[in-house]
Amino acid sequence: MAIAVPPDLEPATAEEVLAYAAERFHPRLFVACSFQKEASVIMDMLLRIEPEARFFTLDTGVLFEETYETWRAVERHYDVRIEVFKGISLEEQARRHGDELWARDPDACCGIRKVSPLEQALSEVDAWVAGVRRDQSPLRATTPKFHWDEKHDLWKVNPLADWSDGDVWDYIAANGIPYNPLHDRGYASIGCTHCTKPGAMHA
Ligand code: SF4
Repeated sequence: MAIAVPPDLEPATAEEVLAYAAERFHPRLFVACSFQKEASVIMDMLLRIEPEARFFTLDTGVLFEETYETWRAVERHYDVRIEVFKGISLEEQARRHGDELWARDPDACCGIRKVSPLEQALSEVDAWVAGVRRDQSPLRATTPKFHWDEKHDLWKVNPLADWSDGDVWDYIAANGIPYNPLHDRGYASIGCTHCTKPGAMHA
């Protein structure tokens, strides 16, 4: 597929980046919702721009109860329904690959529970939005606000790329929006119960 040169959205604010993405791609625009604090900000911001915006989550089946509660809280707060993508059941995974695959072969477990469902979700749209920030890790330091995602073959939008942790918290406080309470207990990044530790940043 021939890819057009992307517009330079680097000087744009997060709202401007989301407005551009909504205008160009909605309804073939999907927001990845991990129920971490960045997802709360993006949801709040985008729904003001496009009330019919679409959100999805990858339910690995081993998320924290606080994450499931945050999921329910944001659906209530914004009156939205978050589309769910998931792999085989945990029982089926254990039957095929043995118990506690995450402990023996985390790449295989992630492949089943995260990578395949993500590919399925992204196959339905032309662009997706994620809450990646450049200051989260050296690997993310050069994240553009808008770019062609070679790996998944669609556009990727990172409206919070140049936001700091403090910027995210300021937005949450100023707008009184729901967020995952695990952040208040020292979790910088929140994923599956088996693989997330307080303070740790997962990829
Ligand atoms: S983060 Fe851990 S439990 Fe979750 S899918 Fe990956 S290996 Fe499995």
